[in-house]
Amino acid sequence: MSEGFVALRALAETDEERSRLDQARHSLPAKVEGDELMAQAQGLMAAKAMLDDERAPLAEILGALETEIEGLRSRREQIIARLSASVGAGKELEAMDAEVTHLSEAIDDRETTELELLEQIAPLEDRLGRIEAELHTLRVRHQVLEGEFKTQSAELEAARALVLARRSELAAVIEPTLLLRYERIAARTGASGACLVNAGHCGGCHIELASGEVDALRHLPLDELGTCEQCGRLLLRTEQVN
Ligand SMILES: [Zn+2]
Repeated sequence: MSEGFVALRALAETDEERSRLDQARHSLPAKVEGDELMAQAQGLMAAKAMLDDERAPLAEILGALETEIEGLRSRREQIIARLSASVGAGKELEAMDAEVTHLSEAIDDRETTELELLEQIAPLEDRLGRIEAELHTLRVRHQVLEGEFKTQSAELEAARALVLARRSELAAVIEPTLLLRYERIAARTGASGACLVNAGHCGGCHIELASGEVDALRHLPLDELGTCEQCGRLLLRTEQVN
């Protein structure tokens, strides 16, 4: 019987190990950092969208203004060219001269507005640039993390496969009725279905056994197992696994 109990204890240990590996899968360093990174990226994208919304109408006005300034300049150049060729009568030349002055004033006026717009847009573009740079850094790090995640998951998978192989070997040498009893409890705990009593504590849930429980255990025959009242695990005593 003691050999079966030794195997049962080992089986319980493989189940605890499998449960630890399953939990580790959710807290792989690469996954945790990757999740944080994604949250950061989402925040940056939202900030970027707000800045884009602020910048877009200003950029549109600026574009229209630049086209207008270009038109005014080319009109002024044409008139200046005609003036220097001195074509037309004196009155016409005067009118052309007045138009050049008028066009120059219009250009100055629009250039002042253009400058104001550029001053409004510049800090927005600075911030957008910084956000782009941060997003780029995050993207690069995320790629690295994806690689690390693959490696870390593969390591976990390999460890899990080893544990499961060892588990099958152990299960094969445990008496079927005891194994069935164990499996039912293990299905409930999600980890092991048995454990060793350790200094008056259940080795599974780590809760201290009541003095009555300890006493009852002590009086059980060597081929019988106790049960933890807290977690339901089968309780093995040291003398049963030595
Ligand atoms: Zn327990």
